[in-house]
Amino acid sequence: MRLSRSFFHTLKEVPKDARIPSHRLMYRAGMIQQAAGGIYSYLPAALRCIRKIENIIRDELNRRGCEEVLMPAVQPAELWRETGRWELYDDLLLRFKDRKGGDFCMGPTHEEVITDMVRRNLRSWKQLPWNLYQIQGKFRDEFRPRFGLMRAREFLMKDGYSFDRDTEGAKASYRLMYEAYEAIFRRCGLKFRAVDAASGEIGGDLSHEFQVTAETGEEVIVSCCSCDYAANVEKAGGRRPAGNQGAVGAGEAMGGGAGGGFRAGDGAGGSGAGEVPALEAVDTPDQRTIEAVSRFLGEEPGRFLKSLVYEADSEAVLVLIAGDRDVNEAKLQTALGAGRLRLAPEDLVVGSVGVRPGSVGPVGLPDDLKVVADWSVEIGDSWLSGANEEGRHFRNVQPGRDFPLPEFVDIGFARAGDGCPRCDSGVLEETRAIEVGHVFYLGTKYSEAMGCSFLDETGAARPAEMGCYGIGVGRTMAAAIEQNHDENGIAWPVPLAPWEVVVLPLQLDNEAVTAAAEEVYAGLGAAGIDAVIDDRKERAGFKFKDADLMGYPVQIVLGARSVGAGKAELKYRASGEKGEAALDAVVNTVAEWVSARRGGGGAENRGTAC
Ligand code: ATP
Ligand code: MG
Repeated sequence: MRLSRSFFHTLKEVPKDARIPSHRLMYRAGMIQQAAGGIYSYLPAALRCIRKIENIIRDELNRRGCEEVLMPAVQPAELWRETGRWELYDDLLLRFKDRKGGDFCMGPTHEEVITDMVRRNLRSWKQLPWNLYQIQGKFRDEFRPRFGLMRAREFLMKDGYSFDRDTEGAKASYRLMYEAYEAIFRRCGLKFRAVDAASGEIGGDLSHEFQVTAETGEEVIVSCCSCDYAANVEKAGGRRPAGNQGAVGAGEAMGGGAGGGFRAGDGAGGSGAGEVPALEAVDTPDQRTIEAVSRFLGEEPGRFLKSLVYEADSEAVLVLIAGDRDVNEAKLQTALGAGRLRLAPEDLVVGSVGVRPGSVGPVGLPDDLKVVADWSVEIGDSWLSGANEEGRHFRNVQPGRDFPLPEFVDIGFARAGDGCPRCDSGVLEETRAIEVGHVFYLGTKYSEAMGCSFLDETGAARPAEMGCYGIGVGRTMAAAIEQNHDENGIAWPVPLAPWEVVVLPLQLDNEAVTAAAEEVYAGLGAAGIDAVIDDRKERAGFKFKDADLMGYPVQIVLGARSVGAGKAELKYRASGEKGEAALDAVVNTVAEWVSARRGGGGAENRGTAC
């Protein structure tokens, strides 16, 4: 491609809302234009990168026996009514009517459409397994579209769905897709981590997210420095403290719970071993938050028993957790088996414990109030807590002595420094990341609701066992930029680079230079390299800046002096390394370098050793 003829142009100014590097750089590199909030046009450079991601995906899926289909973006409400999701889905679903008054939506995902497609063809167990995918535009009316293609409203997704005879088959399909995803992100040249995203409900559902590590990522993942445990922090399990083993009703359902202390280090929690002195009330006038009270008393926030009243299906529940930790409400909801859960409004708090929020504590509560404690509440420790009286707190609170031992459950957010919930010796580390893919075992949720069944070997009808598998194609491109850029611009990994090489003739009025540049450009084309030639009548400095911004992995610089000496100068964008090659060898040199890197060589990011 000749830049002098291209639609392409770079920009200096970017819209104010572009705050993260990939969003800014995509604008500056002329890759995207916004048509409306969260709705974008992909310009040539972006589309070329997207096509490369798609081709890697296709190749890895096709070689594993998956088949590509293309389903409609506009979906009829009647299918969504069959699964109940027409009513359940919130405003993310963009709904509209056609001229006859029929209800439709823009597809945010395709479980209903594919299940309908498959049920019309499925007869016998002999036909299965099937594994179908598409690469297609999705629409989700995101509450807050942001960060460009990272969280768009219209975006490209690869979504795949597997159909199996039984759970075992479905798990094999899941495993196959998990491996395909590892291969895909490796081939994209990205550093990523597959993390556990199962909700931890009983019945062991199966779900993993593929996360590209990047400082600007919206997700936080925790991983063990010693074993291969890694999970989304929203889902990560805690570790039950040794002292609480066998404590009343400790929530086995939440998984994990092998021995060892909750904190790997000496911990910030209640003060450790030894006899706990008698309970003591202290005045804390006008101090309402844990931060304020700890400053007032000169204590660490981690020594407090944070005492929160929740409303779970209209019943009040007191939840205890170490003062420097936060309650993971998703885990709490599962642990309580609650349909609805929220922090209790003030009148319910006053009605159930007799004092306003801010002074609540576990000592001297009515017998009928349900109390649960997070695993961070160690039994043998001495804690501080609210005294259920305005302006007063207790010191030396000991669970089991000063209040009845509550049910212990895993309801806190995991964080760096916690002991690993899986192995004995490991410590968790935190990393920020971007969710680029998600694999999910669905079971028979959709096939049962929609009658997608087959006759098994005995002639009995059985619903198909399903899995679903998504990759955000645009988000993967954005994540690649987040992971591969510097202050001058993008530094594409070779497999995703819109163009692999730029040829930069510096003096267009010098015939030797232009002739050499044209020859090299043609040679690269013949060698199957994606090359552009910057034949614009611009200053050398301008072209260098643009080349760095666009992130071509290799720059071949042809100036009067080097061409006069029969040479080309080379610059490798990612490493910044420079070199030179004889004019008659430069095409080969560069073609070899590029070919050696097309396979990606990305890697799964493992935690550092303990
Ligand atoms: P998120 O938690 O980020 O909202 P999700 O879990 O709802 O995503 P899935 O339904 O699992 O997303 O979709 C599969 C993939 O599609 C995600 O892993 C992500 O890469 C991509 N994706 C989802 N929503 C968006 C969006 N609004 N913009 C761009 N890509 C998206
Ligand atoms: Mg997801």
